[in-house]
Amino acid sequence: MKKRIIVIGGSAAGPKAASRARRLDENAEITIFQKASDLSMASCGYPYYVGGLFDDRSQLLCSPAGVVRDAKFFWNAKKINTKVLTEVTSIDRKQKKIEFTDLTTGETGTAAYDKLVIATGSNARKPPVPGVELEGITTLQSLSDADYLRKIRDEGVIKKAVVIGGGLIGIETLEALHFAGIDITLVELLPQLLTFLDKHMARLVEKYVQTKANVILQNGVASFLGENGKLKAVKLQDGTEIPCDLAVVAIGVTPNNKLAKEAGLNIGETGGILVDEYMQTSDPDIYAIGDCVEIPHLITHKPVHAPFGDLANLQGRVAGENLIAGNVVKFPGTIQTGICKVFDYGVGSTGLSEQNALKLGYTNIETVVNASLDKPGFMNGNLLITKLVADKQTGKILGAQVIGPGDVSKQVAIWAMAIKGNFSVDDMVNADLPYAPPFSLAIDHSIATAHIMQNKLKGLFTGISAEQLKDKLKNRDPMLLLDVRNPNEFEETRLGIGERLIPLGQLRNRLGELPEDKNREIITWCKISLRGYEAALILQANGYSNVKVLEGGIAAWPWSRQK
Ligand SMILES: Cc1cc2nc3c(=O)[nH]c(=O)nc-3n(C[C@H](O)[C@H](O)[C@H](O)COP(=O)(O)OP(=O)(O)OC[C@H]3O[C@@H](n4cnc5c(N)ncnc54)[C@H](O)[C@@H]3O)c2cc1C
Repeated sequence: MKKRIIVIGGSAAGPKAASRARRLDENAEITIFQKASDLSMASCGYPYYVGGLFDDRSQLLCSPAGVVRDAKFFWNAKKINTKVLTEVTSIDRKQKKIEFTDLTTGETGTAAYDKLVIATGSNARKPPVPGVELEGITTLQSLSDADYLRKIRDEGVIKKAVVIGGGLIGIETLEALHFAGIDITLVELLPQLLTFLDKHMARLVEKYVQTKANVILQNGVASFLGENGKLKAVKLQDGTEIPCDLAVVAIGVTPNNKLAKEAGLNIGETGGILVDEYMQTSDPDIYAIGDCVEIPHLITHKPVHAPFGDLANLQGRVAGENLIAGNVVKFPGTIQTGICKVFDYGVGSTGLSEQNALKLGYTNIETVVNASLDKPGFMNGNLLITKLVADKQTGKILGAQVIGPGDVSKQVAIWAMAIKGNFSVDDMVNADLPYAPPFSLAIDHSIATAHIMQNKLKGLFTGISAEQLKDKLKNRDPMLLLDVRNPNEFEETRLGIGERLIPLGQLRNRLGELPEDKNREIITWCKISLRGYEAALILQANGYSNVKVLEGGIAAWPWSRQK
């Protein structure tokens, strides 16, 4: 008998599961019910469409070969029946059927299944404050949101907007609206942007974003103010009013678990539908995938809601195979790898940040910050700044954050695989990565980062983070601050925190200028702290016992500089 498969949700995870099922069973009857009017939308591409990086909207719906994935495509290419603008309103698990409403005609109907897949995605949060229903307030969650914002861009009338929320989507929206020539204020409730980053790394991003938009931290929306039903200003909790005609709310998403909950399926502690490693729910005939589920974090083993497009597709593939073949393939979980483009910067992370690790009770950790180019200067190399987190005892890599105009994606991918493979720092120090000048340094930035971490773990390198140095400055600790760059570099830019300049090449001959007290704390740095490290070694060899290198040097200093 033909297997009847129903998939609820037709964007990322749902169609992937349906397509995989079709590839494994030519005879199954497969139907996708989709509430929205389109199928297989590339939501991750919305910000770039809004910002005008491309103009052809249909590209958001295309297969990699450039074919629009509409109902005809699904039927002709995959023999998958699709019902768009059709909302599934309930699941009857006893009778194994669903109830649906055609949103165009209002007609209702039922359909029977042998296996059901729930891929209903997530809902964008909105702040429960007065005025939230005014015209001019939107999220960037659906294709119709993207259409709305793209229209605003094309009309060019709106000149001021507020983006609420400094997460991935908030930042991507900020970029898109900036490209549309709109003046933007970003408002974030927390003391930092992009909470997957440690504060210091986030501060570097914030400093960069501030060159493009006004950024307000630690302030939330109190209300939206309007005139004649239209947004006119955003009022913040501290009373500030920001005049604007557009506000984009990007304060996170929650799993769309409504159908599953009403059907009595088990829901997890994050609100995501509870699934096992086969993506099977508490009902063996129902699978759930994508943004609507919770999955295990592979480092902490705690459940997380991880609303990422790549994970949705991978889970779809697993569920598609399992519902045809019986539970034969597994989706193990996530290490929460993510990346976003922030103008000319990439910003990405994988695994645990230092802040998260500490919050989760990992006390025995070590971190390093490394700044260097992604490839040689003669190949127009660009800066990368990486913060690596490892277990002090075992050297096991726990997390990496990478930012900068360099090739961030490659770096994050390397660390993601290292974490997935359970690698320690020692496994990474001689990693055999591809090298040629157009692509990398002879010792890739990732491996150099592992070298610094290994030195630190062996006690061969003592670093100090920018934040620790800032604290010491606040406490007026009696330190000698030593910039070891060349005078012309020093003239061009310097931290201006009371440092002395002794170029590395002169250091051995000018030791007499240093304090006689060999226990005096000395902090050394240069542009990226490679020369700073060499200076520290010279000082240590000459008996100075308390020398630290400012990690990442001037490049990773997230506060203002004197020049
Ligand atoms: C602006 C934006 C940028 C993003 N950028 C990235 C990125 O760069 N990288 C990344 O990894 N992820 C990114 N994401 C997240 C990624 O898009 C999601 O993780 C992914 O789309 C989730 O897929 P899904 O199939 O689970 O849910 P969705 O894509 O949300 O699809 C769910 C579908 O279910 C339908 N549906 C809901 N309820 C019903 C019902 N009752 N009946 C019928 N149909 C229903 C909805 O209409 C919807 O189309 C981004 C998301 C957005 C919005």
